[in-house]
Amino acid sequence: MTFDDFDFAPPVRRGVEDAGYTTPTPVQAAALPLALDGVDVVGVAQTGTGKTAAFVLPILDYLVKEPTGGKGRAVRALVVTPTRELAIQVTEAVRQYGAHTKLKAATIYGGVGKGKQRTALRNGIDIVVATPGRLLDFLSEGAIDLGFVDILVLDEADRMFDMGFVKDVRKIVAAVPEQRQTMLFSATMPPPIQDLARSILYKPQTVEVGERRDPAATVTQRAVRVAQDEKQALLHHLIETEDVDRMIVFSRTKYRADRIRKKLDRAGFSAIAIHSNRSQGQRQRALKGFEAGDFQIMVATDIAARGIDVPGVSHVVNFDAPNVPEDYIHRIGRTGRAEATGDAITFVSAEEADNLRAIEKHVGKRIEEVRYDGFEPPKLADAMGQAQRRSNPKGHRQRQKSGGPVRGKGQGGRDRGHRGQR
Ligand code: AMP
Repeated sequence: MTFDDFDFAPPVRRGVEDAGYTTPTPVQAAALPLALDGVDVVGVAQTGTGKTAAFVLPILDYLVKEPTGGKGRAVRALVVTPTRELAIQVTEAVRQYGAHTKLKAATIYGGVGKGKQRTALRNGIDIVVATPGRLLDFLSEGAIDLGFVDILVLDEADRMFDMGFVKDVRKIVAAVPEQRQTMLFSATMPPPIQDLARSILYKPQTVEVGERRDPAATVTQRAVRVAQDEKQALLHHLIETEDVDRMIVFSRTKYRADRIRKKLDRAGFSAIAIHSNRSQGQRQRALKGFEAGDFQIMVATDIAARGIDVPGVSHVVNFDAPNVPEDYIHRIGRTGRAEATGDAITFVSAEEADNLRAIEKHVGKRIEEVRYDGFEPPKLADAMGQAQRRSNPKGHRQRQKSGGPVRGKGQGGRDRGHRGQR
């Protein structure tokens, strides 16, 4: 199957061409024919599978083929996402794939002034990508009218549920016409999300890509047993001995993220932290810096990292083994995106042994446990590390054959479209 098999409007086809895509990913191959037909879709897909294009392309195609245009045009497609970062990324995808269309998109999210977003809406927007809180604000102010929305997408629905947004989502759905096409994407389908899907989608077709709970197959997953107070030293060791292009380090709290970053800095590594204490501008700058390669390592908390899509992340380190198994899947999905491969390494202290067991149960397999042979206890490692780093102050892309991981043993009935039926 190629993208030529879909009858995309020419400007949308050109957008796909410019992106350099030739073959649809599995989620695209399964969802696009349905979505382009106007059928409601439940997409059970992790990030990194190409799910964004699976809903953005049908939106663009529909709006190009059924144009309205003009100042004061109505919002006709709405994408709701759990976080600002994801909203920004989806908007970027809309602008990228839609570069040859005349469609206008706007991102609506909290934590920044309302003025610019309000002006954009007033000038006429076809596609709105929004987080729930700010969107509800605008709805109650009458700054946005959702009465003409033909396509509604809920992205990362399980995450919205985790973040307590389901009530808000229902309020938003109530403001959108009943006659519409709805698509819901989620990495997992726990019962509350199934309920939500049942109540807001009409005869949906479910598209499931791979094992529901199997994290991106391209990611090599490992776990390392390590004492809490040796984690930082192990992290430094890992950066020095693995072939790290870009690494994201996840920590449990904002405070810990800052501390890890400072220690990395002090040890001569180029690192930046991203978490929700940072202003939106700071977060965007941090992301851009990481993307541009100014920083080799980004330390992040779960919420801040949601929706981050930086290509070429070779390593994800769970500095703290997440106690919510779903977070594990979201975290490791930051590497091994699209065609790439990646390494995910989880540090497990004695107190976190239960977390590892819960993760293994959730993903349905054992995670290989490894030891780091060259890894010395912190005091010794510090002394050695300082000597080493003097000869390579940035610590960038060092490759050493010895001291790498040592594998442990044996651990191992299509409907007519819903829109336009009014
Ligand atoms: P997503 O799961 O939507 O976050 O997409 C993950 C990554 O895959 C993004 O960087 C996309 O640019 C890329 N991607 C999406 N569709 C394709 C495709 N058909 N071929 C190659 N890369 C793609």
